[in-house]
Amino acid sequence: MADQILEQGTCYDNLRVLCKEVGHRLSGSPQAEKAVQWGVKALKAAGADTVWLQEVKVPHWVRGPISASFTSGAEQFTLQPLALGNSEGTNGQTIEAGVVEVSTWDEIKQLGAQGLLKDKIVFINHRFNQKNINTFFSYGDCAGYRVRGAIDVSRYGAKAMLLRSVSTKNDEHAHTGMMMYNDSLAKIPAIALSLKDADLLSQRLKLRMPLKMKLKADCKMLPDAVSYNVVGEIRGSEKPEEILTVGGHLDSWDVGEGAHDDGAGCVQSIEVLHTFKAMNLQPKRTIRAVLFMNEENGARGGRKYAELAKTNNEKHLAAMESDAGGFSPRGVGLEMSEAQKTSVRKWRHLLLPYGVYDFELEEGGVDISFLRKEMNTPLLGLLPDSQRYFDVHHSANDVFEAVNERELKLGALTMTAMMYLLSEHGL
Ligand SMILES: [Zn+2]
Repeated sequence: MADQILEQGTCYDNLRVLCKEVGHRLSGSPQAEKAVQWGVKALKAAGADTVWLQEVKVPHWVRGPISASFTSGAEQFTLQPLALGNSEGTNGQTIEAGVVEVSTWDEIKQLGAQGLLKDKIVFINHRFNQKNINTFFSYGDCAGYRVRGAIDVSRYGAKAMLLRSVSTKNDEHAHTGMMMYNDSLAKIPAIALSLKDADLLSQRLKLRMPLKMKLKADCKMLPDAVSYNVVGEIRGSEKPEEILTVGGHLDSWDVGEGAHDDGAGCVQSIEVLHTFKAMNLQPKRTIRAVLFMNEENGARGGRKYAELAKTNNEKHLAAMESDAGGFSPRGVGLEMSEAQKTSVRKWRHLLLPYGVYDFELEEGGVDISFLRKEMNTPLLGLLPDSQRYFDVHHSANDVFEAVNERELKLGALTMTAMMYLLSEHGL
């Protein structure tokens, strides 16, 4: 199985087509539609018995032009901002205001209570904690400011929110990502700055000279659009009614090519089916590869998949997702009962030769989380090495060239092995 994937696997070639011929594919965009067609073709080529679409209504957010510049004393600086996903724009106006830097929730509260955020552009300069070895822990901390920062500063009358990108790479590329509003508060623009721009702005603010910023953004939310999850399956030979789901998400942010996030997870899931077919292996239980739509700004595809599974009374034995990058796999997260964890951990020695050792974290995936909520399905999550993920994640850096073929295939191998073991032995 490992030899098949490492020597004959098609996931890397599939990823090249997805990244270079489709490109980035935000929900509701023409590229997302093209990606759905690509998914159908790729799943058929991999040898799925049946391929079908699940219709799902998705948020349709569009990014327009954006500009930000500021004067500090006599000098003028131009930034390269990037709106956060779901953000409103400036309604054709240019916002002109002073900037206040904050770095924690407490600081927002304190300055807000003193009226110091009112009519200001609030710059949340919260840094990525470099001390965590698992970078997802630091991501979770920073992403809170990205998701809820605009709500919090809007409460105190801010005109816009600027965010230090949730990133580990000190370069000029800002990182986008999902943000949310509270309907009872003003929906102010929420915009990311690259680490270089964030540092520049912070330095200039420290000089305590008069600083004025001009900000204009045209992004907006349109009515929901129709899109699809793409599903392909190989029917089980002995217990076809027991379903194993393996998936990634097909949508991506509208910068870069969505290579690691999450083209990798899609092509790895397709590779699982391809491997069974290429080796002429008939799984005992049904294996479904699912390319979920809209993980990034709504997770509507994951919800829809679970909703249909429940309505159709399907029996879901387990689900596995790859949505943490196409890097070397280090482990498999387990979100299931203790007894089920013990069963899965018995297979640890089979994965150890491939560098996959960590079966301790409680991790599944966003798209499959709804199966657990609805039907208590046990979840598995591929855990790749996380050191480089936040260099590329949600930014122009997330391109095909940033993915290594062997690392991608080792991830596919881990997923295929888990699916094979689950289909042979159950859980
Ligand atoms: Zn993702």
